[in-house]
Amino acid sequence: MKVHFLGAAGEVTGSCYLVEFHEKKILVDCGVFQGSEMADERSHAAFDFDVTQLSAVIITHAHIDHCGRVPLLFARGFRGPVYATEPTGELTKLQWDDMVNLMEEKFLRQHHPVLYAQEDADRAKHALVELPYGRPTDILPGVDFVFHDAGHIFGSSWVEIRSEGKVIVFSGDIGNDHVPIVRETEPLVACDLLVTEATYGDRTHTAPTQRREDLRKVIIDSIKRGGTLMIAAFSIERTQEILFELDQLIEHERVLPRIPFFLDSPLAIRANAVYRKFTEYYDEEAAREWKAGDDFLDFPGLKITLSVAESKMINSAPNPKVIIAGSGMLSGGRIVHHLMRYLPDPNSTLLIISYQAEGTLGRKIMDHTGRVTINGEQIPVKCHIERIDSYSAHGDQDKLLSWMVSGPSAPKHVVVVHSDPPAAASFVALAGTQNHVVIEAARPGQIVEV
Ligand SMILES: [Zn+2]
Repeated sequence: MKVHFLGAAGEVTGSCYLVEFHEKKILVDCGVFQGSEMADERSHAAFDFDVTQLSAVIITHAHIDHCGRVPLLFARGFRGPVYATEPTGELTKLQWDDMVNLMEEKFLRQHHPVLYAQEDADRAKHALVELPYGRPTDILPGVDFVFHDAGHIFGSSWVEIRSEGKVIVFSGDIGNDHVPIVRETEPLVACDLLVTEATYGDRTHTAPTQRREDLRKVIIDSIKRGGTLMIAAFSIERTQEILFELDQLIEHERVLPRIPFFLDSPLAIRANAVYRKFTEYYDEEAAREWKAGDDFLDFPGLKITLSVAESKMINSAPNPKVIIAGSGMLSGGRIVHHLMRYLPDPNSTLLIISYQAEGTLGRKIMDHTGRVTINGEQIPVKCHIERIDSYSAHGDQDKLLSWMVSGPSAPKHVVVVHSDPPAAASFVALAGTQNHVVIEAARPGQIVEV
């Protein structure tokens, strides 16, 4: 088997790995590059392989840096199956439709070329084969694979691929510990090659037990200032985690006053339906709540604003209020309109709870540049900027190190992907000495043979 590193090698986005078995080829993940104009160009670029020669695609999870370019494969002639877990399949369909909408809007506004059309997304949707965790599935003659729970987002997986007595594992994204709703990461299996993410390879998160209290404090402080609190959250997973936490704070612990909360993200609202459908994927706490009749994605005071007209009404709602909207890196979605209105307000607050990639608006705001450009307008940043890191859906350095050696034996060879070069370098150095593994950071275009 040969693995070609075609994306997320020396960077955090664009996950894409070609796995070659003699004449046959499959792809693990095919995500978009994010974070700059350059990234956009790279997403549009030709693939480094003949798309029509590809036999199948495996998607680890529904984040667009892992699944966002799959319809592009269909636009360029791929016609094989696309494997994903059941929740990943359903969430990915929402992501593709959402991407098509955003791209069409951008085309109308700026004549920005679209990556693919609705018909390509529809083709990809029809090609989805949805599987549960733990079921070995033949993908090619003599090659099978298994999805294991990565504990990262709902339905997320790490993938074990087996052929000719050899095993390759792709980590997808490895979850943080104690993420609401999703289960803990499954221990690793013995493998010849581990391709692992290391987004937070050089950092440790604050304890997850603290985050609900941190969230409560940010909300209380914002209420005291009498302004609007904007919570910028990825529509899939982070939003549901925040809703879960708010449900706990408001309905169970009763430690927040009754103020309006707006869920202003059509994608998140649709994703909620997928969470409600696959209850067998819940962790113990979520399953208990669900069985007791508590819809943990809803609580008193929460208003759902699906239409644009409803979204605009949020402006006239009196303060204090809380708006939960995407996108998580502030690079699009409805949060942008709220930012234009509330960033200049010293009484308002922006709460960032996600990783902000280089070049994104979120990173620029966090770097305290004083003003930012949004939709061609210069917007002064005068509101409070708060940050809670422990909501990260990614495992930190400690988690990644312990997961790497959680199997019956250490992996024979480890290649680090999905990481900025300095984070990858420090993770490689640390894991090499601490875990005694042969480990290297992936180089773009590198080929590793197993
Ligand atoms: Zn992810």
